Amino acid sequence: MRIKAQVAMVMHLDKCIGCHTCSVTCKNVWTNRPGTEYVWFNNVETRPGPGYPKEWENTDRYKGGWVLRNGKLSLRAGGPISKLANIFYNPNMAEIDDFYEPWTYDFEHLHKSPRKKNIVVARPKSMITGKFMDKPEWGPNWDDDLAGGSEVVPMDPNVQKLQEHIAMEYEKTFMMYLPRICEHCLNPSCVASCPSGALYKRDEDGIVLVDQDACRGWRFCMNGCPYHKVYYNWNTHKAEKCNFCYPRTEAGLPTICSETCVGRIRYIGVVLYDADRVKEAASVEDPKDLYESQLSVFLDPFDPEVIEKAKEQGITQSWIESAQESPIYKMAMKWKIALPLHPEYRTLPMVWYVPPLSPIMNHITNENELSADGYIPAVDDMRIPMEYLASILSADDTSVIRRVLLKMAAMRVHMRAKTVGGVDEMKKS
Ligand code: SF4
Ligand code: SF4
Repeated sequence: MRIKAQVAMVMHLDKCIGCHTCSVTCKNVWTNRPGTEYVWFNNVETRPGPGYPKEWENTDRYKGGWVLRNGKLSLRAGGPISKLANIFYNPNMAEIDDFYEPWTYDFEHLHKSPRKKNIVVARPKSMITGKFMDKPEWGPNWDDDLAGGSEVVPMDPNVQKLQEHIAMEYEKTFMMYLPRICEHCLNPSCVASCPSGALYKRDEDGIVLVDQDACRGWRFCMNGCPYHKVYYNWNTHKAEKCNFCYPRTEAGLPTICSETCVGRIRYIGVVLYDADRVKEAASVEDPKDLYESQLSVFLDPFDPEVIEKAKEQGITQSWIESAQESPIYKMAMKWKIALPLHPEYRTLPMVWYVPPLSPIMNHITNENELSADGYIPAVDDMRIPMEYLASILSADDTSVIRRVLLKMAAMRVHMRAKTVGGVDEMKKS
């Protein structure tokens, strides 16, 4: 057993209000420099929606992560060797248009224009070329809060048909927020993709970083990361990514996105895991087994054998205590209410999510699922379809989502019973 300590994060999606404070504070701290205008180490996506970069989960052209070939883990986007053969022209490289061309406005023109009858139009100007743009066509959060309803409703002259269409398409709409940072994966495909060895996983805390001196700007990491969380700085010609605010965490401070999160959705902590089990856990045949196999990599920080071995291997008492107090350990491993984002990418991500409990559409009546308070949590008919959550958080396995939602619903009922006068009161209303 090779014991390692890893910093990790859990985001409680019920609490995210989509305010983007995390993205803005992260940008102010890390990516407010020339070359990183289009870069959002932290971004918040409205789901369903295309995300950032656009359609990152559905674009096969530059998809990364790991796949099983003949039972063995291999890079989906090809390893450094096969990429090197293709070095001079790689049609699959993610480009600026896959993210967006950042723009600002012609403020000088706006401010200095003399009074006229006509409105002064703010002209968009590319932050990369400095040239005026016709009209921005897309950018991150362009589709914010459309709840997947950006499709144009067909203008049918038959009003009744149109109403039916709207009823069908829009009465079923749902929406949730998904904040995203680099996952600081246990099995990072960005690291494996880099021909220069510039990306590395820090031994002491598992943070994945880019050595700026070693980076040669190949950009294979951008394709190698299935979450698309490595960016190319067009000014320095180097790769950059979220660094888990290591100068802050080393000083005992939370990451800037966590500290400024308005919804208080972000929990940071340390986990202990068995590094010898990582590859095996990432290689299970059925993607639906990946959640359980990933859980099996984590170690119980209260187990005397684990504590003894961890100390033997140089893990300090304070790291062990941090792992014991860690909210990540409680939410992901003990209570099992947090789930990894896209476990099917096989990178073993370290930012996990508590799925949102959305409003209940109808009550179900499965007597076997009465909560301790005798209340039936109606998780099968929630506004956000379980299939949708499963497609993001459990490789399409709805049983995993259902189990989490049942726990959360039971806890909600229990807490409300304590605070608003009893479950029976609620059932009557
Ligand atoms: Fe690497 Fe982060 Fe992408 Fe994981 S999420 S593959 S650590 S860049
Ligand atoms: Fe969500 Fe917190 Fe970010 Fe606001 S600051 S969008 S609540 S994660």
